[in-house]
Amino acid sequence: MSAVALAALVVERQPCVVLTGAGVSTESGIPDFRSPTGIWADVDPFEVASIHAFKRDPARVWAFYRERIDVLRNAEPNAAHVALAELERRGHVRAVVTQNIDTLHSRAGSEDVVEVHGSIRSAQCLACLWSEPADAVLAQLAESAVPACPHCGGPLKPGVVLFGELLPAGAMERAVQLARGARLMLVVGSSLEVWPVGGLPLEARSFAIVNRGPTALDARAVLRIDAGAGETLAAVVEALG
Ligand SMILES: [Zn+2]
Repeated sequence: MSAVALAALVVERQPCVVLTGAGVSTESGIPDFRSPTGIWADVDPFEVASIHAFKRDPARVWAFYRERIDVLRNAEPNAAHVALAELERRGHVRAVVTQNIDTLHSRAGSEDVVEVHGSIRSAQCLACLWSEPADAVLAQLAESAVPACPHCGGPLKPGVVLFGELLPAGAMERAVQLARGARLMLVVGSSLEVWPVGGLPLEARSFAIVNRGPTALDARAVLRIDAGAGETLAAVVEALG
């Protein structure tokens, strides 16, 4: 029933922009960060995923990301990614703004994806800003602990936003612009705890939330569904016929 109500909202309140977080990828076998079984239950993010750690000990940060990139590249899009790509194809979704770095939205067929926390597609040189594709980075990692920039020799940094780094300006600007133009922001699989991205729904004229467990903005949502992303979004597509 709630999926039917969500389908009606998506049709009525166009344009609809989607905002996704870790909960959209857990069904692909990718652990989230903050739950009791999440990644940060075992390791301290400031030791392995902060810009401070990277500047002090890039090999340690790369040891963490090398394993993570491996997990993410071997994961497959799930029913939630597939449903969102289908909704975009049918003209019901304008774009997907995602906190995820796993590229699964693009791999499922979504065309307009704004990756506000970067992605594992590439690594960047902090000195000359060169961007090196993931395949080349992984090839280097097979032989050395820290991949080097082919242009200036400086250490490459994973292409994801580390703790203590600013979000990529262009991506965040576009995300805010999309949110402001949306009559509905559909939040999927995010507890909206990480700012500034967690504040994006407040920029839209209204927002609905699909998430297992409470979120920071539940009280202000027009519709709140406490359920898995895959089953819910597949039901929305089905309700639209
Ligand atoms: Zn460089």
